[in-house]
Formats: sequence, structure tokens, C-alpha cells
Amino acid sequence: MGSPIAEALGGGRPAGAPGAEAPVAQERGVAAGTPPRITRLSSRLLTVPLLRSWGAEAPENHVIVTEIHTDDGGVGHGFSWTPTIGPQAVKALLDFDVAPFITGLEAKAETVWDQLWKRLHEAGGGGLTTIAMAGVDLALWDLQARRAGTSVTGLLGQRQESVEVYGSGVNLHYSLEELVTQAERWVAAGHQAVKIKVGKPDIREDAERVAAVRKVLGPDRKLMVDANQRWDLPTTFRALDVLGGFGLEWLEEPLRADDLWAYRRLRRHSPVPIALGENLHTIYRFRDFIEAGAVDIIQPNIVRVGGITPFRRIVELARTHSIRVLPHVLPELSGQLALTMAEPALVEDVEDASFEQLGVLNSPSPVRVSNSRLTLAGRPGLGFDFCARSSEHGRP
Ligand SMILES: [Mg+2]
Repeated sequence: MGSPIAEALGGGRPAGAPGAEAPVAQERGVAAGTPPRITRLSSRLLTVPLLRSWGAEAPENHVIVTEIHTDDGGVGHGFSWTPTIGPQAVKALLDFDVAPFITGLEAKAETVWDQLWKRLHEAGGGGLTTIAMAGVDLALWDLQARRAGTSVTGLLGQRQESVEVYGSGVNLHYSLEELVTQAERWVAAGHQAVKIKVGKPDIREDAERVAAVRKVLGPDRKLMVDANQRWDLPTTFRALDVLGGFGLEWLEEPLRADDLWAYRRLRRHSPVPIALGENLHTIYRFRDFIEAGAVDIIQPNIVRVGGITPFRRIVELARTHSIRVLPHVLPELSGQLALTMAEPALVEDVEDASFEQLGVLNSPSPVRVSNSRLTLAGRPGLGFDFCARSSEHGRP
């Protein structure tokens, strides 16, 4: 698994293999065991038009591309991401508050994360602060993996040869016909699990759409529904009465993500497993939901929680409670982390919305998806090489 990466780095043998050459850092003359120090953080904003609109309120995504330089000449490449809210705010936090603070620190992702979280905390324990922190954390993990002559997945320890991908769509605004056609594309692509949006003003319309998709899928493929926080508790119970008979794998975010009290009541009575987490930003909030018995499946977004460092801590917390962890969107990042997880995860692939499909990568994607299974492509570090300017992305 390490061979293509070592070749990409000019090594020829995977790091750690018998007879492997010294890692990159030693080739540069850096003493073993002495981490380099951060000399510079830079960021730039890429605004990416979506190929399939997520609705009037989300016509595009924003990627805040980050670069961290170190005193041994190393460069780490990372990113933050937000579909709608706050790209300029994230960039301003990185440029004005984060960059001066991390300059001079040892380039170690986990120690930088803890210091930076403490530093930014008066601006909020999670949210824009943690989204900005992901740009630092991802760049540092990329740097550490490159120094070790491997991928981030390799550095963290690959536990799965491949992971399953499920088809997902931001499709509440699709007509019934468009929705059915999308479900047919997912089946043709080999997906064994798919997820659609619910939350129409009339629950009978949701039922009609779920029934139509279930018919396309047949009885054996998994079907999930996501209400994106559109309902209150009574509406959710009514929806479960109507939708509960369609063999749903989970119901996602029916209620406002903050409402722990309501989720606890819901889960006590729901016949369908409850999934949430894309709008929880810290390990403390995940702990609160898990210990309250308010959730069956958690879906942390690796960027929104602040990067790989806190994501891994959340994964271990969930494991101790037998709660499944399914990372939220960003398949090219989530997939790399899912390959390191002890329990098999499902990776969410929103149709035509991967970075590669959006045309923002200069190089091939760090992951491959074939017949609904995701594998590593064998690139060093995190493997993201973003376009230089917004004008370069997008399909004709
Ligand atoms: Mg969702």
C-alpha cells in the first residue's frame, strides 16, 4: 500500500519496510525526533459553483485552502470548507488570529490543536473557530505524513482495505421524477445504500417520494432519510408514523441540532435509528448526546469539528459507547479517515459534489471509488492539490 507513495516521494520503498530509506526529514538534514517549527500559514479562498444545485440557498461551496511552511523547508497542504456561511470569516480568523499564534510552534498537529483551541475559545468553542482550525490541523497532518514518507491514512494506521460509499443527494427541491431518476443513477452506479432529503410542507408528499425511491431500490438496498433540522418533536413523531414502514436505515437530523432534550425524548420512542452530528462541533457536545442516550449514529464533519485530531478523539469516544460513526460528506477526506477506523464506516458521496468532480483539484483525487467501494489512490500526505484560483475550477 505504501509503495506508490514512496515512489511519488522518490523513495522507492514504503516507510517502515525492511531496508527502507531514511524518511524525507532526515534527507533534509533535520535531526530525528526534532519536529520542525512553523514559520508561516497562508490561506486563500476558492468559491466553487455546484454542478447540481443544493437549492436556492446553496448554489456553491467554499474551500479555504491552507498552506503551512516549516523551518526545515517543509510544506503542509490543508483546507477548511463551508457550503454557505462564513468563508470570509474563516479566512480572516486564519490570517489575523491563527497565523500569528501558531508561528514558532512545533509542527505537531495534536499539540497545536490543543493550544489553538484554548487560544480561540473566547470566540466560541465550536463553529467558525473549529472550521478555521481544521485548515491548520489538516495541513499539519499532511506535513507529518509527507515527512514520514506515507499517506495520512498510512501514518494513522490503515485498518480497512476499502470502505462502502453511499449515494446521497441534496434533493428536496427535485421534482418526483428528478428524484426517481437520481435513485436510478445510484442503483446503476452500484450503490447498496442511498439517502434522500425529507421535510416537504405536507408529510404525504414525503411519503410519496420515499415510496417511489424505495420502489427503485427494491427491498434489500438501504434507504436513509435526512430532514436537515426541519421538524419539531410532534412533527417528527407524525413523520415516523407515516414513513416508519419503508424500512428506513436511519432518520437524520429531524430536529434542531442543539435540542438535546427533544432528541432524548425522540430516541426513546423512535422505531427508526436516529443519526445526527454534522452540526455538533466539539467532543463535549458528542459526549452529551451519547451519554443522554439521544442518538444511535453520529456523523461528525471532519472540518466542522476542527480537523483530523478531534475527529479521531470523537471516534474513540463513540466506540466506548458502541455508537456508530459515519463521517459527514467530503468523501475524499472522510474516506481517508474511514479507512483508519476499526469498525467499517459508510462514506457519504453527494452526487457530483466531490472536489474532483467540482474541478478544484490539479492532480488526481487521493481516493478512488469503484462499484461503490472507496480505496486509497496512493498519494503522499492528504493528497489534495487545489487549483490556484477560483477561475480555474468548474466544468465547461
Ligand atoms: Mg445531513
